Amino acid sequence: MSATRLDHEPSDAFERLARQLCNAAADLARRGWTPATSGNFSARLDATRIAVTVSGRDKGRLTPADIMLMDAQARALDTQRPSAEARLHAQLYRLLPDCGAILHTHSVTQTVASLHCARAGAVRLSGYELVKALHGHHSHAQDLVLPVFPNSQDMADIERHVEAWLAAGRPLHGYLIAGHGIYAWGRDTGEAVRHLEAIDFMLACELELRKLPS
Ligand SMILES: [Zn+2]
Repeated sequence: MSATRLDHEPSDAFERLARQLCNAAADLARRGWTPATSGNFSARLDATRIAVTVSGRDKGRLTPADIMLMDAQARALDTQRPSAEARLHAQLYRLLPDCGAILHTHSVTQTVASLHCARAGAVRLSGYELVKALHGHHSHAQDLVLPVFPNSQDMADIERHVEAWLAAGRPLHGYLIAGHGIYAWGRDTGEAVRHLEAIDFMLACELELRKLPS
């Protein structure tokens, strides 16, 4: 437990979430999806607090001391600094009540797909059995549309795109940022990992498919 955490007592719930995030991060790092300390991970602790990875740590070697708490506006609740993109996590928790854990990774597939589909603004995944790995999807006949938002070093720009997408009433199960990576989530860390794996797999298939003559 970090000695720098100031305003809450170590809790079993925090420890459990932190360990789940560390295990998921190690698993995703082993696949090469978090190169050069990139990527960030979080889980909702309660109505006002979010457990999130500290900035700049090697995601393959996280321990619970590398997980900190922030509030719903992404303000640190201890003396550590959250990941640069913590605001995007906080936004998703505010906008999506069912969202319990968020994973942000940068696999080759996610990055190539995000650039390939940047101009289209979205990638439509159609006809894949694996879409059923996503909560609420019960048939291969259901399409999954992932928006591709332009990258920016100002998180407020990306937040505006997320907000506009949802305000238009479009379903959102994850999003790509062009040249950057993916945000995927679930009701808990386990479900978020399953969603991320399924989306990455379908994106890889889609890229393969687009190489073939039609
Ligand atoms: Zn990133």
